[in-house]
Amino acid sequence: VIIDAHTHLLDRGFWPDEWFDHVAEEWAAKAPERTPAHIRERIEDGLADPDGEQMIQSMDLAGIDAAILLPMDWGPTFNTRRSLKEYQDQTLRAAARWPTRLIPFGGVDPRRPDALERISDLIEADSIAGLKLYPAAGWEPLHPTALQLYDLCSRKGLPVLFHTGDPLPILDRQLGGPSLLESVVSEFPELVILAGHAGAPSRWADAIDLAKRHPHVLLEMSVWVWADTSLPNAIEVVRRMVQAADEIGPDRFVFGTDHVSGRKVRGLTAMKTIIELFRTANSSLDESARLSETAMNAFLGETVGKALSGWRHHLAP
Ligand SMILES: [Zn+2]
Repeated sequence: VIIDAHTHLLDRGFWPDEWFDHVAEEWAAKAPERTPAHIRERIEDGLADPDGEQMIQSMDLAGIDAAILLPMDWGPTFNTRRSLKEYQDQTLRAAARWPTRLIPFGGVDPRRPDALERISDLIEADSIAGLKLYPAAGWEPLHPTALQLYDLCSRKGLPVLFHTGDPLPILDRQLGGPSLLESVVSEFPELVILAGHAGAPSRWADAIDLAKRHPHVLLEMSVWVWADTSLPNAIEVVRRMVQAADEIGPDRFVFGTDHVSGRKVRGLTAMKTIIELFRTANSSLDESARLSETAMNAFLGETVGKALSGWRHHLAP
């Protein structure tokens, strides 16, 4: 079973104005004949996939059986036009429509007064398979409410995916560091943690370090093959994984694309491109220097499948 552990399903207004402004400025800087204002609306339209149909099409093209949907709470300091509830509900609706294909996570910022209540309600109703947290939006991983969320997930056997690594400039670089999770894993040794992006790009060593000391930390590899979709880059990424596997074991990596499924920005074939690059890169290395078939199977689905074994739905065959 092939599982993409990191995807986003969006409708208009789910991500904050600040994110779209930032991305529009970056794009406009590369295309001087365009203004950020001209680009901005198109970006948002191009990323929307309200019902998840394009996500399913992309998965079919890529041969991906199941994908984790990560609703992202940017927290109280960013301006988001739609409510977190609308965003979370969209995730649940899409997953209910494709119960063997889409795996819904919860997303919350612990600074929200009702953060714990929201998530415990979702868990009680058996509506989510895990939790996505985003400390770089402005909170410490040891925030008191966050500790209660970890405790809840740990007791219920739900994995928590943290964004780790260098965030966009509009976010807090310091708070994205994998090392900050050290005290979380020490306090909740049974909690399965997915280190989203595995510290990409500058904090890979910190992510490996964390994983080395804590067997329940898994390294989720999205964005390493993303902006640069050249084969040499993918080979370099697989080489890193092979090297790190010597230290942490071959079954600690988790495949993810960070795909946002709207038709116009990334396109329907983005997931396929990424998974094929990983496969081609691995098979172009010498047999002694590549991930074994067993390690590749673990990476592409088995490892995260085990972390999701408490989820009520059977995944696609
Ligand atoms: Zn993401």
